[in-house]
Amino acid sequence: MQVCIHRGAKEIGGSCIELISKGKRLIIDLGLPLDADRNDKKYLPDISGLDGNDDSLLAILISHPHLDHFGLLAHISNKIPVIMGEDARRILTQAAPFLPGNWPIPTNGLNLKSETSIELGPFKVTPYLMDHSGYDAYSLMIEADGKRLFYSGDFRMHGRKAKLTEKLIANPPKNIDVLLLEGSSLGRLKSHESFPSETNIEKKLVDIFKNAKGITLVHTSSQNIDRIVSIFRACKKTDKTLVIDLYTAVILEATGNENIPQSYWPKIKLYIPQKQRIQIKNKKWFDLLKRHSKNRVFIEDLQEISAQYVLLFRPLHIRDLEKAGLQKDAIYVYSQWEGYWEQDSFSFLREWLAINNIPKVSIHTSGHASVQDLKRFATALKPAKIVPIHTFMPETYSKLFDNVQLHVDGEYWEV
Ligand SMILES: [Zn+2]
Repeated sequence: MQVCIHRGAKEIGGSCIELISKGKRLIIDLGLPLDADRNDKKYLPDISGLDGNDDSLLAILISHPHLDHFGLLAHISNKIPVIMGEDARRILTQAAPFLPGNWPIPTNGLNLKSETSIELGPFKVTPYLMDHSGYDAYSLMIEADGKRLFYSGDFRMHGRKAKLTEKLIANPPKNIDVLLLEGSSLGRLKSHESFPSETNIEKKLVDIFKNAKGITLVHTSSQNIDRIVSIFRACKKTDKTLVIDLYTAVILEATGNENIPQSYWPKIKLYIPQKQRIQIKNKKWFDLLKRHSKNRVFIEDLQEISAQYVLLFRPLHIRDLEKAGLQKDAIYVYSQWEGYWEQDSFSFLREWLAINNIPKVSIHTSGHASVQDLKRFATALKPAKIVPIHTFMPETYSKLFDNVQLHVDGEYWEV
């Protein structure tokens, strides 16, 4: 089996790997690079068949629904099967109409099911459901030509689904020839440090919520389902009501998991910000709105006792909050990657918080394994060779792991 990392050998984001066996090919992930200013076709790696005109390309496998792993799907032929988790596919499909730009909707292709192998020409693919901040995330074992390659995907061991990664470590597949191992935390975290767990995040949120004098604005990704569960659990512990918008309600429904908070649950309310009301009217989403309106509230309801509400905040709420005077006594909890905060797109929000004297608290943990957990993972899988991917620090791997081999972007090599 031949392998080429087209992007990701020395960077986080834009992951893309091509596998070749007996003249047939698979692609794993087709992500948008982190530094791409917008989702442009020019970032597509130079791989034959992305236009749908080369039968040797059997399928594209998407490990999980994060933009840096699937973003460039928008620019390929829809004739190519896209294989991914069923829930992840539903999330992408339901999210697309809400989001600006060219969001792909992969409709054609098999669904991954954890620990169920699929045969694709000369390849056998076995997915393993993993703990990650993205929902329905898989690592993938690919077998061909008597060789075994294991792609870790993005994963961690301190989230709400840590048991999944622990299960794999307790009973790992044997005889792995190559482990393509993500290393997002290298360079961001010292080797002895660990990330807070989601349970830890929940505790920190409880402390903030219970002392709130006004509305609490929690700014996170609506697709970080683990985090939304942490926020909701913290709400329940402090007798607060969680307020979501229609986009979040739709994403939560798209998980297909009734154990995850839903718009119709007690202690959850739906509030439609003015900007979203216009979107609903223009796109005639009246049935969708009706389906999620069981617990709908209006701005007057939020004004009444604002301290009892935790709003899953997005910048589109700003106008509504101002109109209702809700910025008074509000507290803002920033609950996503700190790297976004300094970006230009956040300057309006930074100014708004400053003008209104709204304090900012950061409560977040990573979606990626700590260095110690990467080591545990590698030790359990006992690969003959480790190849770095999804990292800015490939050269540090050899200090942490045995049998490291570096391959650069665009190089074709044998497993
Ligand atoms: Zn990810």
